Amino acid sequence: MSDVMLSLQSVSKTFHVGNTPVRAVDAVSFDVNAGECLAIVGESGSGKSTIGNMILGIYPPSEGRIAFRGEPLPDKRALSHRRAIQLVQQNPLSALNPRRSIGASLRLALDTHNIGARGERMAHAATLLEEVGLDPAYLKRSPASLSGGQRQRVAIARALACDSELVVLDEPTSALDVLVQARVLKLLNDLRARRQLTYVFITHDLSVVRNIADRVAVFEKGKMVELNAVETIFSAPSHPYTRRLIGAVPVVTSDELALRDRLMENVNVAR
Ligand code: ADP
Ligand code: MG
Repeated sequence: MSDVMLSLQSVSKTFHVGNTPVRAVDAVSFDVNAGECLAIVGESGSGKSTIGNMILGIYPPSEGRIAFRGEPLPDKRALSHRRAIQLVQQNPLSALNPRRSIGASLRLALDTHNIGARGERMAHAATLLEEVGLDPAYLKRSPASLSGGQRQRVAIARALACDSELVVLDEPTSALDVLVQARVLKLLNDLRARRQLTYVFITHDLSVVRNIADRVAVFEKGKMVELNAVETIFSAPSHPYTRRLIGAVPVVTSDELALRDRLMENVNVAR
């Protein structure tokens, strides 16, 4: 039996835009097992980020329950949950304070959660950068001086800083070109194996999940229409909407996709 880390039971979210209710998430149930990568895939507006935000405790479900390690998520976000469940989002610039150096941002995460001895936190920040493949000299740099891929590595380092167990990745590679994407995906795979992390990997692009996800949940208009092992999703998709997503023309060329898949093949993921 796998060890369930996160459980959603009949979770719905209705937003009210003026007088109009918008049912962003509609009676969704699934478990995420410890150590797995569950991908959440669907077109823009299908409710993916809303699911992620409820898992992070940014807002509560309108109906249903979310449990983390068997305990219901509290309505108000506790510091312990903020430490255990971290977010990496599409645009790391919006997550990193532009006036703070990379070192100061990492240090702030360590201070907030009181991790390690005060005097050792800068050294800890340096090892976090090395872990995500960046030179510790980047501690002194500003977010604006980094490339998109480097910034995403910093955002990942910050998520790792608090020894989180579950990372919600919301379109983490969608703003990156296809080769940078491959390297960041490889890093995420390596880190998951090394640190025994659990991922909820949100993306509108089904092609990126092939090499990272164990299972894929497919969302259409707030409803989960299919949840299957990644191999099944690609070889025998059961829902017509999944087949449409697979058939969707990628915005990159097939040569680039083949190259990305080749780069990713060298990755050994502990399952
Ligand atoms: P996705 O991440 O799949 O693109 P979202 O979860 O962001 O989708 O949005 C799902 C639906 O909920 C959309 O119709 C969106 O307009 C609506 N929505 C999301 N967040 C809010 C909000 N804070 N207020 C009102 N409507 C929202
Ligand atoms: Mg979204």
